[in-house]
Amino acid sequence: RQAAFRTDLSSLLDLVGTGKESLSFMKRRMRRLASQWGTAAQRLHAKLRQRWREQKKILVHVGFLTEESGDVFSPKVLKGGPLGEMVQWADILTALHVLGHNLKISMSVKELQGFLGVPPGRGSCPLTGPLPFDLIYTDYHGMQQMKQHMGLSLKRHKCHIRVIDTFGTEPAYNHEDYATLHGYRTNWGYWNLNSRQYMTMFPHTPDNSFMGFVSEELNDTEKSSIMRNKVNNMAVVYGKEASMWKLQQGKEGFLQILHRYMEVHGTVYYETQRPPEVPAYVKNHGLLPQHELQTLLRKAKLFIGFGFPYEGPAPLEAIANGCIYLQPKFHPPHSSLNHEFFRGKPTSREVSSQHPYAEQYIGRPHVMTVDYNNSQEFDSAIREIMSTKVEPYLPYEYTCEGMLERVHAYIEHQDFCTPEAPFPPANSSSKLGLSSSASPGPLFVLLPNSSALTWAPNANAPPAWPPLSSLRLLASQEGQSCVEACQRANLVCEPALFRFVNNREALRGLEVQCEVVEAEVNHVFPAFSVLRRECGLQKDPLLYSCAGLSPKYRRLCPCRDYRRGQVALCRDCL
Ligand code: UDP
Repeated sequence: RQAAFRTDLSSLLDLVGTGKESLSFMKRRMRRLASQWGTAAQRLHAKLRQRWREQKKILVHVGFLTEESGDVFSPKVLKGGPLGEMVQWADILTALHVLGHNLKISMSVKELQGFLGVPPGRGSCPLTGPLPFDLIYTDYHGMQQMKQHMGLSLKRHKCHIRVIDTFGTEPAYNHEDYATLHGYRTNWGYWNLNSRQYMTMFPHTPDNSFMGFVSEELNDTEKSSIMRNKVNNMAVVYGKEASMWKLQQGKEGFLQILHRYMEVHGTVYYETQRPPEVPAYVKNHGLLPQHELQTLLRKAKLFIGFGFPYEGPAPLEAIANGCIYLQPKFHPPHSSLNHEFFRGKPTSREVSSQHPYAEQYIGRPHVMTVDYNNSQEFDSAIREIMSTKVEPYLPYEYTCEGMLERVHAYIEHQDFCTPEAPFPPANSSSKLGLSSSASPGPLFVLLPNSSALTWAPNANAPPAWPPLSSLRLLASQEGQSCVEACQRANLVCEPALFRFVNNREALRGLEVQCEVVEAEVNHVFPAFSVLRRECGLQKDPLLYSCAGLSPKYRRLCPCRDYRRGQVALCRDCL
């Protein structure tokens, strides 16, 4: 069956169910953004020009909202608890519905068992027949539940699973044996998935797929009206829980400085009294419904973060409503090594500010990242913000059309069920060699104006997505990851293309001197050591890692181009 775009959300709203505050929150959000999704569907439909899209059978099992996982979130919806996850699940459900797929939603283990056709009740009753779904979207809690209730058959079917994972999982943590042997074992990781099956909230390491969410879009009339009505000395604080305000310490803290110039507003949850963490001069509105928060943001000039929560949706909403987002720089960066919040998360990523996406992908004039301990720097940032005019801005990848485009591309092209052949094939590497006259063309050609090598698709190369035409090979510096090396070259690391550069031809193309070339299970390979003239290829494709780095090695990095405003997709990816 062909998937047809849907512009009406009513059947989705019925599917979501009732009875919990988290579900009501998601439904309110779906209703509020319904017309925006409708317009986006029409645009993408036109862009894809009637391309045949198969209707997939999709199960969405929201593990963290099940009673079986304790559902700690639902009771906190109206109390300032984390809402980012709820925002994202609402948008994922809407995107899948709008793309026209056949959707089932489960929010309990019982429903999960029903949909999968496993007998209810005790133990791990394996699913014996074929999996009744093409795709299953779930989270880490859901994975655990499926393991318990599908038993061994989970292994057989896991290529169909996508794990929604806010902060991401790096390959070294995902590989069970490797994680266990090398100290990367956490409570979450080691599912031995292809790392691209983990889908994140922001584009963190490209080892994972970037799923994202959406924010409100404005038309030109709304934009200019917002700009006319901005109140230059009005600031809203990012932090709906009182504990987030503790981060501002001292009498002459930055909040004091801010207060010297601006009227400070907050949306901190409280029961009866003002929370003691919130100074008296702050106008606290209490936790607001999403649409009222938008209204507040439309008037405010500044949205200011205190360092927590990390990487939520709110700064994007503020910037989309014409605020400048001011946030603290982290020095040293926060990570699972030095910060409680990230401890035990399956990633070594270093977080350079409260919202690295805002810092790195948006930047000035919409985002200012400063050292809050330096009062002078902070002071001049505030004054600059008050006198700078900015337009509301939303990166394309966070519009409904951008999200639909990306999710569509993943569903069409990501296939983790068909094993990928190594390339060049093990037994015919000489036939495809760089200088071989038998091959129809060289594997690599040097780009005239850069240090990267570009791939001239060889007639024998298997098809790939992203396609080989997007590949640029380059070597990182010692101690530099491929995430960073590709970024420096205005490219992005593409884990799906590692298999094309994990070979001697790539080393030769880069003119690397190797005394030995060894294949090993090591998450920084393929790589080479200049000093020791040693070269290492990757033995286990599960460990291909953009994030990996080692001071001893320069890495071989498969970089690719990307679309402006849609980093998940290369130019020829659609
Ligand atoms: N939000 C809200 N009312 C408020 C403050 C925030 O509805 O008073 C919403 C906001 O619109 C955003 C969501 O809460 O979409 C998540 O916000 P945040 O960035 O704080 O991320 P979290 O830490 O909750 O994941």
